Amino acid sequence: MSDAVGKDRPAKAVIIGAGIGGLTAAATLRRVGMDVEVYERAREPRPAGTALTVMCNAVTALRTIGIDLAPELDKRGRVFRTLHFRTSTGRPIRDMRFGELADRLGSVNYAVHRTDLQQALLGALGDDTPVHLDSTVTGFEVNGHRATVEFTDGRRVAADVLIGADGFNSAIRRGLTGPERPIEAEYVCWLATVPFTHPRFAEGFAAHYWTPGQRFGLADIGQGRAYWWGTRNMPPSAARNWRSGKEGILRAFDGWADEVRAVIGATPEEAIVTVPAQDRPFLERWGYGPVTLLGDAAHPMLTALGQGAAMAIEDAVAIAESLAGARDLPRALRDYEARRRPRTRRMVQASRSLSRIEQLGGPLPSRLRELYFRFTPRSVFDKQNMSVLECRPVEVS
Ligand SMILES: Cc1cc2nc3c(=O)[nH]c(=O)nc-3n(C[C@H](O)[C@H](O)[C@H](O)COP(=O)(O)OP(=O)(O)OC[C@H]3O[C@@H](n4cnc5c(N)ncnc54)[C@H](O)[C@@H]3O)c2cc1C
Repeated sequence: MSDAVGKDRPAKAVIIGAGIGGLTAAATLRRVGMDVEVYERAREPRPAGTALTVMCNAVTALRTIGIDLAPELDKRGRVFRTLHFRTSTGRPIRDMRFGELADRLGSVNYAVHRTDLQQALLGALGDDTPVHLDSTVTGFEVNGHRATVEFTDGRRVAADVLIGADGFNSAIRRGLTGPERPIEAEYVCWLATVPFTHPRFAEGFAAHYWTPGQRFGLADIGQGRAYWWGTRNMPPSAARNWRSGKEGILRAFDGWADEVRAVIGATPEEAIVTVPAQDRPFLERWGYGPVTLLGDAAHPMLTALGQGAAMAIEDAVAIAESLAGARDLPRALRDYEARRRPRTRRMVQASRSLSRIEQLGGPLPSRLRELYFRFTPRSVFDKQNMSVLECRPVEVS
């Protein structure tokens, strides 16, 4: 029975996935006295992908549980205060002053390389939590209040709490829902990081460039490096099977602002990651008994809001809050899920809506979008952005 756990030994949480959500959950659950083990498919502790924004709600959420990532992120990444929206040739459309919103919330937004974020999270985790690499989960079984996880090499590991933090193609989610098909957003994303200098690429620079059906993002992530991403509308099968390489990407951005073409040009072909834009139907049931989901495994979202990682981090704080001192662990997991579903559902929906607006094709719709962004009062955008960036503080005793 789960209510015996905690009398003779701390409850054991097994976390599948050492991504952003899994590592954060390991750190937050250790803070509330749980015994934690992490199992990760990758053979090396190197995160897939490139860079990302860590928005201030994630930084605030972690602070409420006594984890301050700011000193590490100040050192490793770059604070960004203003996001410039521009046309494809670099003509200004609007500036969004995220720094001023973060100031109001007493926090900071960062742009950071994934490896640097991973290092900061590992620092918060400490050395005494086992992170088992080369461990691919295939499924799980539930017996009463305990779960047993199964691995490709035949290992089986028992847990009082099993957390699927294994990302977009989660095996733990598949065990809960059966096979699912992703929702294709009908555009491709190219991403990379690269050492970069350019007269228009100042410290803390962050900009989005728009044309019908196509976008480009460029951000300073510190230490002389740029993070860039580009998108282009295309049928899902073309987005899944992009074969035109860097030359094709350069052709797609022909005639764009000089800094856009320069940063693509400076990037080695092998450093460019290509992914189709996808999410999944929102899941109303994230687990049962001792099993739950967290991060992209629970609520994958399109990238438009830049909140996927922040939602995984907020989940990790919320699950520790629910489990802290709990005697009935399954009930604590249902409490965590109930508290997180409304906000994450809103983020999945808002990311989808914003993505549709951002990828509008055709000159007329995209002209209307530009006029909307140019002339809508700042107070309207500030209100929308604050509802995303505000994080309800949680207290863990
Ligand atoms: C193109 C793109 C750009 C993005 N930009 C941003 C951004 O700017 N800001 C932002 O906040 N978010 C961004 N995101 C979203 C963000 O990357 C995710 O929301 C975030 O990484 C989710 O973290 P996670 O821990 O849930 O999953 P992941 O980071 O995907 O981690 C899952 C981990 O589980 C492991 N794993 C998978 N299957 C198994 C298995 N069977 N057994 C064991 N281990 C397994 C994986 O190897 C991985 O390490 C972006 C996403 C994409 C695709």
